[in-house]
Amino acid sequence: MNSNEFRDWSHRAADWGADYRAGLRNRPVRPDVEPGKTFRAIAECPPEQAEAMDAIFADFEAKIVPGMTHWQHPRFFAYFPANAAPVSVVAEYMVSAMAAQCMLWQTSPAATELETRVVDWMRQALGLSQDFTGVIQDSASSATLAAVLTMRERALDWQGNKAGLSAAPRLRIYCSEQVHTSIDRAIWVAGIGEENLVRIPTAGAHRSMAPAALDKAIEEDRASGYLPIGIIACVGGTSIGGTDDINAVVTVAKRHGLYIHVDAAWAGSAMICPEFRHFWAGVDGADSIVFNPHKWLGAQFDCSIQFIREPENLVRTLAIRPEFLKTHGRDGITNYSEWSVPLGRRFRALKLWFLLRAHGLEGLRAMIRNHVAWSAGLAERLRRERDFEITSEPMLSLFSFRHVPREGTDSDDHNLSLVERINRDGRIYLTQTRFDGRVVIRFQAGQFETTEADVDQAFDVIVELARSAS
Ligand code: PLP
Repeated sequence: MNSNEFRDWSHRAADWGADYRAGLRNRPVRPDVEPGKTFRAIAECPPEQAEAMDAIFADFEAKIVPGMTHWQHPRFFAYFPANAAPVSVVAEYMVSAMAAQCMLWQTSPAATELETRVVDWMRQALGLSQDFTGVIQDSASSATLAAVLTMRERALDWQGNKAGLSAAPRLRIYCSEQVHTSIDRAIWVAGIGEENLVRIPTAGAHRSMAPAALDKAIEEDRASGYLPIGIIACVGGTSIGGTDDINAVVTVAKRHGLYIHVDAAWAGSAMICPEFRHFWAGVDGADSIVFNPHKWLGAQFDCSIQFIREPENLVRTLAIRPEFLKTHGRDGITNYSEWSVPLGRRFRALKLWFLLRAHGLEGLRAMIRNHVAWSAGLAERLRRERDFEITSEPMLSLFSFRHVPREGTDSDDHNLSLVERINRDGRIYLTQTRFDGRVVIRFQAGQFETTEADVDQAFDVIVELARSAS
């Protein structure tokens, strides 16, 4: 591709993107395709000769786009959002064009320094203490892994990476049953073992870890010869928004000298609104916090911020400095690859900078407040219907419900089939979870372009399809 063609195709891609976004409401949110359809549509062997861009582009439109789930669709109410505000897409275009590998300060000084600045902007925006600094990781899973590795090394006097775990005491980490599976994975990968992730019973509407039970579990483990190393608390768990009492958990952690990591991957974005900060009161006492601006806030995937109280512990855990990665003659620089598991890093700060400047915190707050209010409104409307039950109360913009089937019909089967029929219908997209042993349906409003009318349409679709099968 020569530079004129590059210019031409970049313009065409930009036009395509703008048309795509403008036309999303007319597409089904999730495609109704059978597994294998796209795979079969793609040539079995790679081309030996160059193909014309027109043909490649035509195939993209004909074979790929119809098989995509449209995460930027205004009626995407499934999972959690992965918002890419148009301004962050524009920034990503520049990032792709420069294609810098930002592993060290010297491999992209501006990317490193912008990252330091925007992470601090976000710290201020969330109302976090000045004691935190941070880094942009690729995902919350990576941030949690980095936190778990730091817990491990800190507890083993920095010998785990060298000596391995075979001669170490059995390490223990504590969490509730509401945490995301990325916590399980971090425990597996860190060599700590699933059996040593202790699930503390929960209580209350938000299914918070019971602090007394947490305290007791730590005491008992110590008495039995285990080595407790840390606690992972959650604010806004994926299933129904499970949220720990961070103040209480921090108090227990401090009493036992444990490291505490808070997973607020989704809910963290809402903390730009002061009125929601009570959900993580006490968070300034944490050692590590993760939140994903690529979820609700609108910074195109991937963009996950890990705030850390003592970055030297993280760096001591992860930094490796072979000669070929050294920067000589520069003092006081930060090499962010020493703060994360992968060496290579994308320039993720640019889209966050563009996003925060183009929308301002007030613009982003307005979006989040609307989502929370519209979601609460939908929960109330469903609650008033005789054949619906709200199974978990709204946590920010997430709640769960079930449709109560006719006598003699299994509720789980009925609700699973309802979700599938809703998603095949394509007007809205929802996902299910299991809560208190039953299949329930999750609803979250969080997409950047969602309007109140879209949430009203969700009510109509849910009620129509639930009743058509009862
Ligand atoms: N934590 C919570 C609460 C989540 O909801 C998710 C994903 O939805 C994650 C962690 C993992 O996020 P990531 O995909 O950035 O690893």
